[in-house]
Amino acid sequence: MNCPNFERLVDFVDKRLEEREAARVAAHLASGCGICGQTTSWYEQVRETVESDDSVAPPSWVFKRALRVFDAPQRKGLRLTERIGHAIASLVFDSFARPALVGVRSTETTNRQLLYRANDYNVDLQISGLEHSSADLMGQILKEHAEEFDSVSGLNLELARKDEVTASAVTNDIGEFKFSGVEQGVYELRVTLSEGSVTVPNIPVGEP
Ligand SMILES: [Zn+2]
Repeated sequence: MNCPNFERLVDFVDKRLEEREAARVAAHLASGCGICGQTTSWYEQVRETVESDDSVAPPSWVFKRALRVFDAPQRKGLRLTERIGHAIASLVFDSFARPALVGVRSTETTNRQLLYRANDYNVDLQISGLEHSSADLMGQILKEHAEEFDSVSGLNLELARKDEVTASAVTNDIGEFKFSGVEQGVYELRVTLSEGSVTVPNIPVGEP
């Protein structure tokens, strides 16, 4: 099994996964994956901190979790696909930006989690290998209220730095993608959708 993405790990800790999916994540963690182990223990600590300290505002993605990406049952045909034009995604969560939880940060060093959002789309990014001169950029695109992955599979992606496309990729059947060996720099990820496009700006690969 590839590393489960951030949302799935969070769902696992929160015991929101189906039994089969939970068993897969548990098996992956039991296999000793350091990155996922760090992410899981970091989230467990964050959850404890947030629960035990009223002065710590829960990060915005905690509220996002309450909305649940796939929970809302939609009657088929009710929700029309709207053209979204060229949307710019905004940053919802950054695992490096949590000043209130400085004590927790030491458990996670070279792995950065970022969550962006544009319209109904969530773009989940994981930057790993930051200790090397080039990093891996993995991610998943999810559409809220979508029961299936049709709208996020087979999407064309372009990674650009200073307006120059440096790599391209296509999402797999559950919206996941990976760019390997990305040089340090600030990137833009362009996602082509059937109803427009989403651009994720200012992705900090290797920037503090
Ligand atoms: Zn893993």
